[in-house]
Amino acid sequence: MSQFISVFDMLKIGVGPSSSHTLGPWRAAQQWILKLKEQRLFDTIDRVQVDLYGSLSLTGKGHATDLAILLGLSEADPEYIPIEDIFIIVERINTQEELIFKGGKTIPFPKSAIKFNREFLPFHANGITFRGFIQEKEISTETFFSIGGGFIVQEHDSLEEEIEINKKNFPYPINRAIQLEAYCEKDHLLISDVVLQNELVLRSSEEIDFELHRIWNTMLESMYLGCHTEGKLPGGLNVKRRAFDTHQKLIKDAVYSNPKEWITAIRSTEVPGGLNVKRRAFDTHQKLIKDAVYSNPKEWITAIRSTEVKFREILKWVSCLALSVNEVNAALGRVVTAPTNGSAGVIPAVLMYYMVIENHQADFSHIKRFLLTAGEIGSIFKKNATISAAMGGCQAEIGVSSAMAAAALTELMGGTVAQCLSAAEIAMEHHLGMTCDPIGGLVQVPCIERNSMGAMKAIHAAEIALETNPKESLVHLDNVIDTMWETAKDMNKNYKETSEGGLAVTVRLADC
Ligand code: SF4
Repeated sequence: MSQFISVFDMLKIGVGPSSSHTLGPWRAAQQWILKLKEQRLFDTIDRVQVDLYGSLSLTGKGHATDLAILLGLSEADPEYIPIEDIFIIVERINTQEELIFKGGKTIPFPKSAIKFNREFLPFHANGITFRGFIQEKEISTETFFSIGGGFIVQEHDSLEEEIEINKKNFPYPINRAIQLEAYCEKDHLLISDVVLQNELVLRSSEEIDFELHRIWNTMLESMYLGCHTEGKLPGGLNVKRRAFDTHQKLIKDAVYSNPKEWITAIRSTEVPGGLNVKRRAFDTHQKLIKDAVYSNPKEWITAIRSTEVKFREILKWVSCLALSVNEVNAALGRVVTAPTNGSAGVIPAVLMYYMVIENHQADFSHIKRFLLTAGEIGSIFKKNATISAAMGGCQAEIGVSSAMAAAALTELMGGTVAQCLSAAEIAMEHHLGMTCDPIGGLVQVPCIERNSMGAMKAIHAAEIALETNPKESLVHLDNVIDTMWETAKDMNKNYKETSEGGLAVTVRLADC
């Protein structure tokens, strides 16, 4: 049986800085409170204890896991809570050392009620146990696992939920990329068409458009906010927000007063557009250089200069847009998990690149196709490998987001289905083995810059794929997904969101 994962599971609106360490524990706390209410235990409980295990504990402080738990236990919703309320609620709980639930019930909640345990639970690296007591008698014990991208499961009920959703009759059940390719070929459809047909089993066309609008608007607002916010990020690393300065230089004196006018303003700034491995640079070069005349390397440089290529501006725009989202994410702002929070900047930056640089006529129909295609590619990674850095390192976050964006961009650029899958493959191939080693456990360094790199790699991968005959490609998307999973399993646990290896060790928080 195929497992169905909706685009709206892959692209979720939430709060930074981490989908596995913030959004997941937040949702787990909400779900536990709900369970207590269903079991009629909620009213009688007088003490709560929370135990964090493994990666959730090792990088939980920097990833704001403790704050997320406070908010989840307080029954706040990460999708809708006003960002300014987050700090008010957390401050109040920490000062009064007491949880206030909906309806007014209060119970003591000292800081020691959240315990950070170094050991790992066997089921998954991100474990969290909630315990409820009445007069010191433990009457509720529930363990959840945050498995990446804001998804949470419990060991015993995950299968039941899956079976329920998979009973539905999806026209195109997809587990592997090769199946997706076969459906598209058989019915002469684009990837986004196939994904839409599956989504229509769960939601009406109007609901799908409404939700995709909401996702895009959240992405746009996070880019807009990041590009217009100065200062330093919280957490103690003293990381300067860089999107603001870069944006100021790029936008110059354009006048606008909201995100929609901002897009128009950006559009008006001046940015033009033995293995038998085939040599590809020659063909690409011929197209770029057109009929320029030159006879030596020096003249060649002059010839290239005479073509309209303003690469640095494009590079700066894409970098700036990706940085902007992840600066907002690092400041506990609202972003779209795509497929995780740490990698939330890649997809908006690449989509915005298409909208403001590649195609000035782009509208919601393009946004919709982009998000549907990106979501499906992410779900294939989730089904066959992982989107959790605690399981697979940063290849599972930035690598997957880059692959999602690459395939989606290729579709919008007129690539064939095989070229879209090839773009995703190329993007992931060059993230294989990327470790997760955030300094100080914060989702800042190297995370924020990695989004810029992931976005540029996605655009690059799309361009390579568009210039390649997929039949000549040696590696299929499914091969690279399997490789990523094998690499994840072989990766030393120090490089899986523990901050016990890599940059997190060579650059100490105390030195920053
Ligand atoms: S290094 Fe990569 S995977 Fe790890 S927290 Fe940062 S963005 Fe996420």
